[in-house]
Amino acid sequence: MEAITTAMDTTLDIIESKSGFLVGGEYGGNAVEVARTDSGLQCQCFIAQVSHDDCEHIRAVRDYIASVPMSLERPMLSQASADLYLSKLGELEISEATNEASANEQTGRIQLWLEMESEKLARKKAYYIQALDNFMQMNEYKTKRLVAGTLKLRSQQPEIKINDEAKVLMDERFVRIVPEKKALDKTALRKYCIDTGEEIPGIEIILKPHKFSFTLNGGAR
Ligand SMILES: [Zn+2]
Repeated sequence: MEAITTAMDTTLDIIESKSGFLVGGEYGGNAVEVARTDSGLQCQCFIAQVSHDDCEHIRAVRDYIASVPMSLERPMLSQASADLYLSKLGELEISEATNEASANEQTGRIQLWLEMESEKLARKKAYYIQALDNFMQMNEYKTKRLVAGTLKLRSQQPEIKINDEAKVLMDERFVRIVPEKKALDKTALRKYCIDTGEEIPGIEIILKPHKFSFTLNGGAR
């Protein structure tokens, strides 16, 4: 057991997933993602962008692949590394929160600008709309085609707004009986299915994978 953990510790700097590899930075620096693409391994680092040669991250991934060939087993993770990974998660969450706060601030400014500009434009539009509405009414037009477009004036049905339903219900002329409606007792159905595992006609039981979650210590948030 001890030997396995020690052996795996040499490859801990690389985390593999379906989409690629996360290559840990030296001395606790930022990890860099090396993605698996149709054209091979692709790194996002600066060196990889400016050079045609493989960067250190891609070389590290190649070494990793060579050292763990077609291994189906998940690499053993020491508790210290798990703790380090959890702290990395914490750092990433802080970055996310910072980005979000920054984006919200900018979005707020854009929103304010948009509101002020829209208000100005809407006020200008209102002048033209009022004048054209008058034009239609004065001439008793229903529809008027012009070069720039078509104007229409429609009378509208009044809206019936019910302010006190109980009061209206006292007038038998406007009361109708709604027949009793059958509805599913979902709580009972759920309990029955989980207890018996039976898929009764008309339903499907979908099994769900376990759910991983984490909480961070330190009150950074
Ligand atoms: Zn790189």
